[in-house]
Amino acid sequence: ESEVLRLSTGCKNLDNLLNGGFRRGTITEVFGESGCGKTQLALQTTLYNWLQGCVYICTEDLFPTKRYEEIKINLSSYDPKVDYGKHIFVEHITEANDLLSCIRVRLPRLLDHHKVSLIVIDSVTAPFRCESTNYIRRAEDLRELAILMTSLAQKHNLVIFCINQVTASFKDSDNVLPSLGLAWSNMVTARLMLKKTLKIADVVSLPKQMHHLLTSNQPIYIRELSTVFAPDLPDASTEFVITSKGLQG
Ligand code: ADP
Repeated sequence: ESEVLRLSTGCKNLDNLLNGGFRRGTITEVFGESGCGKTQLALQTTLYNWLQGCVYICTEDLFPTKRYEEIKINLSSYDPKVDYGKHIFVEHITEANDLLSCIRVRLPRLLDHHKVSLIVIDSVTAPFRCESTNYIRRAEDLRELAILMTSLAQKHNLVIFCINQVTASFKDSDNVLPSLGLAWSNMVTARLMLKKTLKIADVVSLPKQMHHLLTSNQPIYIRELSTVFAPDLPDASTEFVITSKGLQG
């Protein structure tokens, strides 16, 4: 039985950029400034693959249950009788040590008993913040984390979706840098950059079928996802918007 190679994001433009979605068996990192939409992307990807099983590891905030409930009703196959949280396993972890032991001990057990296709870590950055003065220790821990996750990804054919923040940058700079340094970036299979642009969606930038979104009083900012490196994807970027319905474009 051949399984699909990629997991859809539920957003057409993003899936086109990603050649169908996030690739199984590998680690994909999405980085960007606070509020750019990283959690929205992870949550929507979780929703669209809920039936295949997901582990969502929260290290910053509680799992955004309300938002998950809000976007689920937009699934084309939405059925109010279905429990879309049924195959979602949520973990809340704040310390680097706990994250490592979760991935070393708890996840392998869970994966032996449940079907899972996606593991989200939202974010990898937060647990390592307090270790930031001990760079050697941090690099060792990040390396172990990546090795453990790569082996799980390969063994169970999983998508590992890691969220990363950015280092302090000049405001509005086009050159924000991902956190966690080289030791981490060398271990990631694909790195994607997410941005909230200063462009506001209008009738010119939005396709016709989305013009109804412009009736709200809130400005809708255009977001952009770019490939920074990815072995099997071209250097390219694509645009989308975030509305009450989720990521659209
Ligand atoms: P990050 O994880 O990168 O810090 P988030 O994924 O939490 O950012 O994205 C937050 C943004 O998503 C908000 O600034 C808002 O623009 C958008 N967003 C979240 N919920 C909604 C909603 N219900 N309707 C419209 N936009 C929303």
